[in-house]
Amino acid sequence: MIPPGATRMKLQNLRVMTRAWLLPVTAIVLAAGIFIADTIADLEIAFPAFYTVVVLLAVRFCNKRGVILVGAGCCALTLLSDLLTAATGSSGIGVINTTISLLAIATTTYLAVKIEAEKEAAYEARSQLAHVGRVTTLGELTASIAHEVNQPLAAAVINGNACMRWLAAEPPNLDEARQAAVRLVKDANRASEIIAQVRALTKSSPPKKDWLQINDIILATVSLIESEIRQNQVSLHTDLADDVPPVQGDRVQLQQVILNLVLNALEAMNRLPARPRELIISSAKNDAKGVRITVQDSGIGLAPDNLDRLFSAFYTTKPDGMGMGLAISRSIVEAHGGRIWATPNAPRGAVFQFILPVGMEP
Ligand code: ADP
Repeated sequence: MIPPGATRMKLQNLRVMTRAWLLPVTAIVLAAGIFIADTIADLEIAFPAFYTVVVLLAVRFCNKRGVILVGAGCCALTLLSDLLTAATGSSGIGVINTTISLLAIATTTYLAVKIEAEKEAAYEARSQLAHVGRVTTLGELTASIAHEVNQPLAAAVINGNACMRWLAAEPPNLDEARQAAVRLVKDANRASEIIAQVRALTKSSPPKKDWLQINDIILATVSLIESEIRQNQVSLHTDLADDVPPVQGDRVQLQQVILNLVLNALEAMNRLPARPRELIISSAKNDAKGVRITVQDSGIGLAPDNLDRLFSAFYTTKPDGMGMGLAISRSIVEAHGGRIWATPNAPRGAVFQFILPVGMEP
């Protein structure tokens, strides 16, 4: 659940809300200022060209449709101001200024929308690539493990059959039977060695031990999927405590854990038409010894019976799921000396939390 400390929570929520409102409010104030200056100032200046700044601000808090609407609104304000000025007499330069400004606003809006669309396409391509990468690696790994283990097992079966034949012979050939049994044991040992090697392989890459601020990692991860969050009409609240101590670990791996949890949360909310879609990502000190990261959603939720199975490899309830995200996340968190768990959220949704131990002083 959300970390304790009601006062701190309120202050942080206020800060998050302030941050969320700051850009739209700035854009509105700026647009109003430009409109007033353009309408009342008796100067031959292309004031409305400054609406391009409003459009560029809108890119930060709107989706593509919103940016187009803001651009259209700025054009409308430019024309309205022109009409009002025309009533008090407008010059030829005024008409040229208006035309230049309209062109500047339209071009900026077009480019902003294009850049936004390209960013979304790049994100889509990146996540598809990551998915293909995971499937390919896993598929190849499974095929090669199966092949490696199959060989000694097949040989063990052949040697077992040979052993039985030598024993069933009249008279039984004990010497040959013993040799076949020795080969059988060797084959079985070989199979078990291969399994041991695979296990060692998956454990053999200890995470890096860099000094990390978990809040930076959360913010970097969120910025990776900002457009996805916006597209899904999810309202995101980040509640990051200022006093979170640094942890020692592998930035990329920890980012992967947070990304997995957030993508799962978005998918869980997508599977439900209900609104509002709320995603809360928080960090907090967990006693003196740990840092706790929480990802809370208002999605489809978790069945209490399945809580234990969630983190098992290949457990999935999605038609195109792999069931590897949480298993990988758990192995990363545990390799960092931490633990991860899930609980149902109230009134709906899920809460995933993990704790990382606080790093020792450098
Ligand atoms: P995948 O996403 O490929 O199914 P994961 O290991 O990431 O694999 O997730 C395993 C399962 O855990 C999902 O199929 C889903 O049933 C459940 N799950 C994970 N995150 C959530 C969540 N935020 N809300 C509800 N269920 C979830």
